[in-house]
Amino acid sequence: MPDPSVSRALRALPAVGRLLLAPELAEARARHGEEAVAAAVREVLDDARGAILAGETSETEPMDWAGRVATCLARTWAPRLRRVVNGTGVVLNTNLGRAPLASDVVREALEEAAGYCNLEFDLASGDRGDRHSVIEEHLRRLTGAEAALVVNNNAAAVLLVVDGLAREGEVLISRGELVEIGGSFRIPEVVATSGAILREVGATNRTRLADFEAGRSDRTRLVMKCHTSNYRMEGFVAEVPRADLVAFGRKHGLPVVEDLGSGSLISLAPFGLPDEPTVPRVLAEGLDLVTFSGDKLLGGPQAGIIAGRRDLVDRLRRRPLLRAFRCDKVTLALLEATLRRYGAGLPPEATLPALGMLAVQAIALEPRALGLAHRLLAEGWPAEAVPTVSMPGGGALPATEVPSWAVRLTCPWGPWTEDTLATALRRLPCPVIGRLRDGAWWLDVRTLLPGDEDRVVAAFRQLAGGAA
Ligand SMILES: *Cc1c(COP(=O)(O)O)cnc(C)c1O
Repeated sequence: MPDPSVSRALRALPAVGRLLLAPELAEARARHGEEAVAAAVREVLDDARGAILAGETSETEPMDWAGRVATCLARTWAPRLRRVVNGTGVVLNTNLGRAPLASDVVREALEEAAGYCNLEFDLASGDRGDRHSVIEEHLRRLTGAEAALVVNNNAAAVLLVVDGLAREGEVLISRGELVEIGGSFRIPEVVATSGAILREVGATNRTRLADFEAGRSDRTRLVMKCHTSNYRMEGFVAEVPRADLVAFGRKHGLPVVEDLGSGSLISLAPFGLPDEPTVPRVLAEGLDLVTFSGDKLLGGPQAGIIAGRRDLVDRLRRRPLLRAFRCDKVTLALLEATLRRYGAGLPPEATLPALGMLAVQAIALEPRALGLAHRLLAEGWPAEAVPTVSMPGGGALPATEVPSWAVRLTCPWGPWTEDTLATALRRLPCPVIGRLRDGAWWLDVRTLLPGDEDRVVAAFRQLAGGAA
């Protein structure tokens, strides 16, 4: 027997047609169109019906139906992908979009690519061109490779290499390098997806050249090395030096490929960071191909780059998978604009924000933290500037900590705990993402972009207004 008050409440809901034509929704109709308004009306009425059936609302509550529809529309069509302030100190933060791009790189790229461009058109001959050649020359010059290819991301680059060079054959790889990168990128699964067979050699902590010799058969097609970019092994460990792997490959006619992951074009040692193997250095050591990301230490857009021997790159060019993995014109334009910064008068850390953030020393960050803490203090927030350590590499520099400076707010204070503060800051129109540590909220100033200090101050001002 249905509850009569429930049926009364359901009957009292406005008719769809009447709500659709409500004069209060005239502006919403003009702004979003009839169909979007109709969808929002249905959504609001469905929600109301659900709430009545669940016993959550009573028939007597007056309701601003048009207001609810307008709110629903605004929420539905508000941008979801939004600029955030990265106060985590993690420069290459995958959750926050990895390498930040310089605004002049973006402007330049969009000017070139947004309309029509010579993506696959040879301007000299008027014939069909090749999208990969657009940046191949830059990559050759900057890496020393004979040839290069760009795909959607490094995961695709690795898959294309294994598919192109080892399908239906075997890939030799050390047991110490069966890497998982966050999400679902695991070397064994990538190899399996390509249809090649993984032949693990050695032990987790130690692999010797003899293990590669023992693992080789007439089915072996490829020798692979994977840079352990998110962990480090210590203790009783051994890996085969690149030179020995290269000699092994030459002796048996097998290509030797390294997945470098982050793949910096320049040494980070001058910044006081570990001297990660750079792309040019690894190729100079004789590796046949390397793969690396465009949006890690390179400091550009998401992309996967394959660089090395011309004949091998040409084999990859003929694979149908390349068509599935190819980049669009905007990515290629962003990558080209980024690579051109490596040949400019200024060093790349002066023009590419990700490298600039990695290069900056703690002594230069201290005044920024002091200045920001001072501004927040002036707004009535108990902020202080404190030394901290950043983990700048995320997935790029394993277990590397560098000295940095942060603004710290210790709660509970006023209406806030550090948790409610962090949540409220995340929910603002321009979210501010910090770190919770030792009972406080921390904002590492290393990862602030130009203008972010103003955004942080505005964010705290909004919180103060909201909480008052
Ligand atoms: C990051 C990384 C990948 C995945 O690269 P994406 O560009 O994120 O696809 C693969 N291998 C290694 C070693 C990595 O560090």
